[in-house]
Amino acid sequence: MSIGAKYNRIVVKIGTSTLTHETGKLNLRRIETLARVLSDIKNAGSEVILVSSGAVSAGVAKIGFHRPTCTKEKQALAAIGQNEIMKLYGKFFSLFGHPIAQLLLTKDVIDSPSRRVAAEDTLETLLSMGCVPIINENDSVSCYEIDFGGNDRLSACVGVLVKADIVINLTDIDGYYDSDPRKNPDAKLIERVEGVTDEMVENAGGAGTERGTGGMQAKLIAAQMLADAKIPMMIVRGTDPEILYEVIDGTARGTYFAVK
Ligand code: GLU
Repeated sequence: MSIGAKYNRIVVKIGTSTLTHETGKLNLRRIETLARVLSDIKNAGSEVILVSSGAVSAGVAKIGFHRPTCTKEKQALAAIGQNEIMKLYGKFFSLFGHPIAQLLLTKDVIDSPSRRVAAEDTLETLLSMGCVPIINENDSVSCYEIDFGGNDRLSACVGVLVKADIVINLTDIDGYYDSDPRKNPDAKLIERVEGVTDEMVENAGGAGTERGTGGMQAKLIAAQMLADAKIPMMIVRGTDPEILYEVIDGTARGTYFAVK
């Protein structure tokens, strides 16, 4: 199947551990490749929305700070780093001929009917203008007790908001395994999940690296939220963002969360 033939509207989520090196600094080659591949997918006729993490890490890297130890530090670092990330996306997407737009959401926007419609309208308008909306949580003003619970869930909210045809989660693992592959070398990748059960969520683990936040549990919850809206999700390793072509062609190694 050719690019864009099956998925008209694609939400791609990329996590901090995929956007950064082990040093905590931004992985420029990966960000550039991501911008190129998304631009190409857009050139082929699909609409693309990117949900990008990395603000806090970029803030840490920018000022040489330690990992934040409290909410105030995290929020301040996100304010520093969000700008850094957007500068890079702006540069790379413009190299490939596409305008970008930033949307920073908080959960109260999604929970409030009128503000939700405003976000929905803005996204629709941006897409009709040919922009690539780039979305993150507005960490600097979020109340973490009532937040999205990370960008995996935020990407599900965005998928529902824009009525995406698929949400693709680029992460630091190939997909959903029957046990934790970091602990069990015999763990098997499950390539297709017909429905996420609460038991699967309970048994899933948290973040795989110090820099990442979500982990498999948050991804399964995101898949459940999307399934309720009849939107499929796919988890793939984001080391090489060119894997997005394979997702579109239906040949990627990863886990596809089907919907009924
Ligand atoms: N919004 C956070 C950031 O940009 C990341 C949250 C997450 O990855 O789940 O650093």
